Amino acid sequence: MPKNQFTAADQRSLQARRQVAVDAATRERLLTTDDPVIGLLDVTALRESAAELQAAFAKFAAPGQPVLHAFAAKAASLVPVIRLLGDAGLGCEVASPGELALARAAGIPSGRTVLDSPAKTASELREALRLGIALNVDNRQELRRLDDLLDEGHASTGQTPPIGLRINPQTGGGSIDAMSTATSTSKFGVALADPGARAWILDAFRQRPWLSALHVHTGSQGMPLSLMVDGVQAVYELAEEINRSVGHAQVTSLDIGGGLPVNFASETTEPTFAAYARLLHERLPGLFDGRYALVTEFGRSVAAKAGMVLARVEYVKEAGGRAIAVTHAGAQTAVRTVFAPDAWPLRVEAYDAAGKPKSSPPLPQDIAGPCCFAGDLVARDRELPTLDADDLVALLDTGAYYFSTPFSYNSLPRPAVYGFLVHPDGEASFATIRPPQTVSEIVFEAGGPYVEGISGMR
Ligand SMILES: *Cc1c(COP(=O)(O)O)cnc(C)c1O
Repeated sequence: MPKNQFTAADQRSLQARRQVAVDAATRERLLTTDDPVIGLLDVTALRESAAELQAAFAKFAAPGQPVLHAFAAKAASLVPVIRLLGDAGLGCEVASPGELALARAAGIPSGRTVLDSPAKTASELREALRLGIALNVDNRQELRRLDDLLDEGHASTGQTPPIGLRINPQTGGGSIDAMSTATSTSKFGVALADPGARAWILDAFRQRPWLSALHVHTGSQGMPLSLMVDGVQAVYELAEEINRSVGHAQVTSLDIGGGLPVNFASETTEPTFAAYARLLHERLPGLFDGRYALVTEFGRSVAAKAGMVLARVEYVKEAGGRAIAVTHAGAQTAVRTVFAPDAWPLRVEAYDAAGKPKSSPPLPQDIAGPCCFAGDLVARDRELPTLDADDLVALLDTGAYYFSTPFSYNSLPRPAVYGFLVHPDGEASFATIRPPQTVSEIVFEAGGPYVEGISGMR
């Protein structure tokens, strides 16, 4: 849109800011014939989302009640993104040594970091104890491993960081099996309704005064809010039972996980953090009466709407009566959408080579990616303005789990990611979040330095 027409309302609109960014990214040659796919993140949207999350819980929290919002690193595993969210007051939830290193590189303090993972190694546990990072134990064997480490004196300065137990409330799955973590047979946490589990948990807490938290994360995407609250309720009631049974407030912290679903079907943010916090407060007022410190671990809902994948159309063609746009956005940057298209449909926008929204006649088209397998499609039979070579396509709501979670199929490079800020005058500025991966980096990661390694074996 011409800059003199950019209004204050436009500046508040995700879509208007996106159009400015696509136009500016094209003019500034962030997207070129050699770098034909990039990720773009709207800095304003990210900051607003962090602020909405904090306001949603602050509205109901008791005065002085600690609430830590630990952004799930896996949703956007990019150091500058974690830093921006940290500057906005968030912490970080990590689930591997790599994610912990990202959080530390982003400057997230130990006291705002939470370690989850169903497969923590002994050295990960030792490191978390040394750094004083909160951690959630997944299972009985991990708890015994922790007993041994604490006996050996592996806690920093004799002070144990908050240690919690992950509970699988077995309250049921949502609409995507692979993302549902509270089914009766889920691999996560201690299955609460299994025979003997409650008694074992009560005993485990009675024997370990340093166990002070409970953790639940019932699923990611496809989870109705009421089912998410069911999971939190199970853990809240368990905390009350443990505290009654040991005779004092041993459980002082409840980590309610993340998993707020994202609406991929339209521009609307729905459900909102505010709606979820309201429902939690309505059904579980005790959660907000100040007796428990609260921890949340949202990922997708913080970052998805802020991001897009922008890719060039290399060719258009036809096969068997179907129009196909061969673009540079495929499984390497949209792995879930390509492999599970029904669970992860994405909105696609069409732009011309100059980065202006396209208005050619609509046509059902397949939007294909560059990978060498037939299923590498990010949209099928999608009605879009008729695309041509050199046009651009934008995959919307991809700020979480898309360009930040690349798939190195066909030795395609990890695309560059840029943050953008749209100013009141309708100008956009960009900052690098991650440069494009170079071909020599690809060779290195493919064992280049060990080229003779096996050939010399006799
Ligand atoms: C993935 C994950 C999250 C984040 O889930 P979102 O759906 O991105 O909010 C939070 N906690 C745990 C334990 C997770 O595995």
